[in-house]
Amino acid sequence: MKKLADIQHNFVDWYQDVIFEAELVDSSPTKGCYVLRPYGFALWENIQKILDKEIKKTGTQNAYFPLLIPESFITKEKKHVEGFSPELAVVTHAGGEKLEEAYVVRPTSETIIYHMFARWIKSWRDLPLKINQWANVVRWEMRHRAFLRSVEFLWQEGHTAHATHGEAVEMAQQALAIYKKLLEHYYAIPVISGMKTESEKFAGAERTYTLESLMPDGKALQMCTSHVLGHSFPESFDVRFQDDKGTMQVPHCTSWGLTTRTIGALVMMHGDQQGLIIPPRLAPIQAVIIPIYKTAAEKTAIIQKANEVAQHLQNANIAVHVDLNENDSPGAKFYAWELKGVPVRIELGPKDLEKNHVVMVNRAEADKTKKKQFVPCDNLITTIQALFDTIHEQLYQKALQRIQQQWHQADALSDFAHALENENGLYQTGWCGDAACEAQLKEHKGTIRCRYHENAHITCFYCKKPSVTDVLIAKSY
Ligand SMILES: [Zn+2]
Repeated sequence: MKKLADIQHNFVDWYQDVIFEAELVDSSPTKGCYVLRPYGFALWENIQKILDKEIKKTGTQNAYFPLLIPESFITKEKKHVEGFSPELAVVTHAGGEKLEEAYVVRPTSETIIYHMFARWIKSWRDLPLKINQWANVVRWEMRHRAFLRSVEFLWQEGHTAHATHGEAVEMAQQALAIYKKLLEHYYAIPVISGMKTESEKFAGAERTYTLESLMPDGKALQMCTSHVLGHSFPESFDVRFQDDKGTMQVPHCTSWGLTTRTIGALVMMHGDQQGLIIPPRLAPIQAVIIPIYKTAAEKTAIIQKANEVAQHLQNANIAVHVDLNENDSPGAKFYAWELKGVPVRIELGPKDLEKNHVVMVNRAEADKTKKKQFVPCDNLITTIQALFDTIHEQLYQKALQRIQQQWHQADALSDFAHALENENGLYQTGWCGDAACEAQLKEHKGTIRCRYHENAHITCFYCKKPSVTDVLIAKSY
């Protein structure tokens, strides 16, 4: 197995090494596209299961729309086409002929979904209409890194239509709250919620809410977004409804999405020099059992006990794997499963069998402090469940502390420009709301990640006019 690049000094290479060595992804013959290997896909499936359930609780139903969208649809919403045209992949030939109208491979599905909404929405009785799609999308990116930026990626996209603006805003905020819970309670990733500026919002949206987090290298990562679309798309696609007084109205719409990019965030946020650390509530394998034996007699007894323990854990809905590979030593197995980030290792040897206990080891603890926990076999379930919660909390708190250490208060760009450019980090400061001041940040490779709900700074970081809102500034992925 390849030695991972140094996480402290070469974070970018470490990330690349760990996602390939842990078998989350592989490269593919298609440029800019990656293969999600079974272990990586299982992680996405776990995310899907949790998120899908929460989305459905809002009364949203899943549906599926075509991958290919008539090119004319994309041009109907002016800002939308401006935002997306550089990234579009277009199908011009099919069935051996040039097509009369080309198709774009969906970069997102607003256009085709609003076309259908126009057919499905007639009266106020048809509202709200709440649809979600689990799908792949294609955006022709030039620089690629698995999970973080790739030509094709997986996501869910929610699309809703409402009778009033207030209801649409409420829906967009509700989606954001679902994402926040998912990210904090399952990914163990602390997130910051805020609103995008005019220049950073989704092409065609009235406003974009975002959840941002700060990675260990001090760069921000946009975890997901939720948009209040207002009337832009429904007007472009002739979506109308008759209100209860018989007047024709345009519905207020939202869209919101979370992608496989969040897996990249999870890898960066929790991993260490030994490899991945997957938070227990999302882990495809939550516990791995390593049988330890020397003689043939020991082997039979230990493997039998290991299988019993596994069955017992499975019955309590714990995802467990018994490593019966005969080619590797226990030490080599410890190493391999640490690399894959399995949160709990269970060791079972002859002495443990005698005492009717197992040894549990917490993956999240640094090597030097790693303590072995001897757990009586009668106590397995409650102990391991408590250990999962402990690991989750340890991961969350560690990430939170690191974010707080890298979160700086600043008054003037001249005070933090150098640090932003050379040391990364998150800078909270005041802003007058003017795009010209915002544009100054480009020179220092930073952007306003979001408007923040505090007003701790009274003047703009650039022009010194009164601040209208605090903003958070960072470099970003
Ligand atoms: Zn200003």
